[in-house]
Order: sequence, then C-alpha cells, then structure tokens
Amino acid sequence: MTEKMLQFTHLAQQTPEKRKVLARRADFDEIYARFDTQAAKAQASRCSQCGIPFCSVHCPLSNNIPDWLKLTAEGRLEEAYELSSATNTFPEICGRICPQDRLCEGNCVIEKGFDSVTIGAVERYITDTAFEQGWVKPIAPKTERRQSIGIIGAGPAGLAAAEALRSLGYQVTVYDRHDRVGGLLIYGIPGFKLEKDIVLRRWKWLEDGGIKFVLNADIGGATSFASLRAAHDNILIATGVYKPREIAGPGSGLPGIVPALDYLITSNRHGLGDSVPDFTSGRLNAAGKNVVVIGGGDTAMDCVRTAIRQNAKSVTCLYRRDRENMPGSLREVGNAEDEGVVFTWLAAPEAFLGDDHVTGVRATRMHLGLPDASGRMSVDPIAGSSFTVPADLVIKALGFDPEDAPAAFNEPSLKLTGWGTLKIDPASFETSLPGVFAAGDIVRGASLVVWAIRDGRDAAASMHRQFMAAEMLQAAE
Ligand code: FAD
Ligand code: SF4
Ligand code: SF4
Repeated sequence: MTEKMLQFTHLAQQTPEKRKVLARRADFDEIYARFDTQAAKAQASRCSQCGIPFCSVHCPLSNNIPDWLKLTAEGRLEEAYELSSATNTFPEICGRICPQDRLCEGNCVIEKGFDSVTIGAVERYITDTAFEQGWVKPIAPKTERRQSIGIIGAGPAGLAAAEALRSLGYQVTVYDRHDRVGGLLIYGIPGFKLEKDIVLRRWKWLEDGGIKFVLNADIGGATSFASLRAAHDNILIATGVYKPREIAGPGSGLPGIVPALDYLITSNRHGLGDSVPDFTSGRLNAAGKNVVVIGGGDTAMDCVRTAIRQNAKSVTCLYRRDRENMPGSLREVGNAEDEGVVFTWLAAPEAFLGDDHVTGVRATRMHLGLPDASGRMSVDPIAGSSFTVPADLVIKALGFDPEDAPAAFNEPSLKLTGWGTLKIDPASFETSLPGVFAAGDIVRGASLVVWAIRDGRDAAASMHRQFMAAEMLQAAE
C-alpha cells in the first residue's frame, strides 16, 4: 500500500467550501465550491483502503471507491476518471446530489473515530476535471448493431440505459414529453443542488454519441405506445412517478395551494430562460409571500430553499414527525435552516383558511407514538393544540405515486405491483409484455438518482444478454 494513503489519523476531514448564506440566498448557483487539486488529493489520501470497503458495499453502483481515491491521492486523475466512469454513468451528478450520509460516506469505516472520507466531493472533482481536460470522449461503439431500442423517459434511468446500449452499438432513440433532456435532473432538482449546465453538458455528450432524442413526445398521448413497439425491437419504460399525493381537510382546494412539482418546474424553467406565465403572474412565484411547505422529504427541502431564493416574506416547513424521523437529507435541512427557513416539527395541517384565496394554515401539534408495522413511529394529534400560520402560498410536498401505466399506454396487459408501480422480473427487468422493460422510479416508486442509474444500466445489460442469446440460438440452428 502506498504511503500516501491512511492519512486520516492526522488529516482532518475537509468538505468543499460552502458559499456564504447571504450570497447563496441571492441566486440559484450551487452552494458548494469544488475541491482544488491539493484538497482533493489530501482528502482522498485519508482513505484507509479497507479490505472490505463498506463504502462500496453501500453505494448502489458498487463504485470502486478505494481504488479511485488512491489514484486521486497519487495525482493519477485520468485513471481515476476511467475507473469511476466504468461503474457510474454520471459520477459528477451523483457526487453532487447523492445523500452520501446515508450511502457511501455514512458507511465509511473510519467514521466512528474520525470523520468519513468526503467521497462524493472527490467523485465530483474527478469527473469535472475530466470534462475540463477533454478526457470525456463521445460514446464510440466498436460495432454497430441493427437492433433498435426505444426508451420512454429521458431521466437518469432512461439516459443510463441509453448510454449503456449505445456503447454496445445498439440504435437508441429516447422519447420524452418534455422539451429538454434530464427528467427530474433538469426540471425537478433546483440549480443550487445541481446546476443546469451539468445536465445540458451530458445531453450534448449523449447526442454526440449517436443517441437520438425525440422531445415533446407524450407517449400514450399523441404518439401511441403500440406504434413505438412496432418501431423498435425493444422498449424501456423509464417514466418516473409524478402523481402528487393529495392533502385533505377543509379549504384544501383553495387557490394558492399548489403541488410541489408544478412550483419547482416553473422555477427551473424560469432559471433556464423560458417565459413562464405562472411565474410572471405570481401564481407559482414566492416573491413577497408567506410560504408554507407541507412535507419533510427532499422535494419539500427543495421547495423551501427555492422560496427563500425567490425572496419570500417568510418560509415555514410543517412536518408531522420530528427532525430525526424525517425522510429528507439532514444535510439539506441544515442548509435550509442556515438560509432562513423555519421548521415547525411535529405539526400537521387540519384546515386551510381563506375565502377566495388561501390566507393561512391551521395546524395541530402531533406526538410520536410507537413504531408501526413499517418500523416508523406513529403520529397522533394532540387535542386542543391548534395554531395558525399565515400563508399566501401553500406548497404540497407529500410525495408522489405512479400514474396508471396500463391506462396511460392503453396496454391492459402491463402488470402492476400492489403499489401501482410496474411489475418486472427482477432478474431481467422485463415487464409482463415481451420485449418491454422498465427501470427507475416507475419500478421502485420515488427513489434516488443513483438507483435510477443502476436500474437503467442493469436493464440495458439484460436486453443485451437476451439479444446475444437469441443470436447464438439462431447461429446454432
Ligand atoms: P425521472 O427523472 O422522473 O424521469 C422520467 C422522465 O420520463 C421525465 O423526463 C418525464 O418527462 C418522462 N415521461 C414520463 N411520462 C412520459 C410519457 N408518457 N411520454 C414521454 N415521456 C414521459 N434524488 C437524489 O438522488 N438526490 C436528490 O437530491 C434528489 N432530489 C430530488 C428533488 C425533487 C424535487 C424530486 C422530485 C426528486 C428528487 N430526487 C433526488 C429523486 C430523483 O430525482 C428520482 O429518483 C430520479 O430522477 C428518478 O429517475 P427516473 O429516470 O426513474 O425518472
Ligand atoms: Fe457515493 Fe453516490 Fe458516488 Fe456511490 S454514486 S460513491 S453513493 S456519491
Ligand atoms: Fe476508504 Fe472509507 Fe471506503 Fe474504507 S470505507 S475504503 S476508509 S472510503
């Protein structure tokens, strides 16, 4: 083992510099700076090169983390990039937005006595540098294959599959109902976590590699699913989950109460330079308003922090459990608090006030009970504890369910799970329809970008295995 490694005993953890609160409240740029070369090398050298690297075990992509950390520490960055990009289609994106505290870094074994290795920041540094140095080459298949694959959905699952299939020489067309590529990477996740240029750069890279994109194509709407099946040898459904969970209670239908994704898409489109009437009219713009966001997941965190940047008068997050039991990343809660968001824990809405527009949320205090069947603490209202929060804009961020895929695609034989997600054979990623595969949130339910990438890559590998097996069979006949 090189002397460069194992530096954790005397070198403290250093995370990339965070921009000052006042500056970051004023724009949608990323809040973390990038490591410089010296910091990246030093931080990578803290790794103890574990025999069984729990960081890799807990990375959904099984990234070869200790090896690319070692190469980074030794200044062999191009090799580090080769290794890192061999298992991850978008390492610079995962390095920015994976909840590392729950995945690789949360399982780094030096964490107990010493702070974990800053794996995500090094991963991001490696690929950002690779782009700058021109090491990221367009996809160049060794052979062209005749089979054509149609992918529905240009989110991370669809794009990861597209890259893997195109690298193997398949003819790949990706269809999306939006006008830009990226799925939630472009229109869901705000720029302060993932700047849009990073996503647009990947779009160009995929196009340069020969992947075709058909945008503004609503499959199941103007273009039928059946026509796509007829046009391609295989189909991959990677359409994500978009049906917002609704909120009940008196007044819940009042104007001024809006779904989280409508709000975030509007903000992202505005940031990308589009003219968005809902933003200019103020309907989906928090400027000057008292904003209440309901929910405790990543989407809620993105909404509160977007509202702060739009110059809201006040931003309150109501969540029915406490900080320790919330689903969102604690790192993002800390960032939101620093930026001025007020968190009201253990509080749930019971009614929405106002006549022709929402003016406030009446909420009730909750207390945590015993864990339920899922292991999560139950929550019960505390009688007589109601209070009111003024609100001109209420954002519902309670999570998403899948749309009814068999109905949307007019394919009743597409089978669903009990949760409404697409049912697949877990070994092959094939749905109940032969030649139709599925990956990402539409299979898992709302999940993470890194899992979508993993699924997309696995589905592509499975299609390739099937094609190869069929060709061998044909050759043997
Ligand atoms: P999506 O990214 O949803 O992409 C699906 C694509 O399919 C979309 O482009 C959609 O337009 C298209 N589509 C759908 N139906 C059709 C149709 N009928 N015809 C044509 N196109 C169609 N994960 C993280 O790891 N870190 C985070 O910080 C994080 N933050 C998040 C913040 C928000 C606000 C949200 C909503 C999610 C966040 N996630 C985060 C989760 C992550 O974005 C998703 O798990 C991931 O994007 C799922 O990828 P996907 O490819 O399955 O679906
Ligand atoms: Fe960690 Fe995500 Fe990178 Fe895996 S992909 S090493 S979980 S940041
Ligand atoms: Fe290095 Fe931590 Fe992974 Fe061990 S668990 S190999 S110390 S990054």
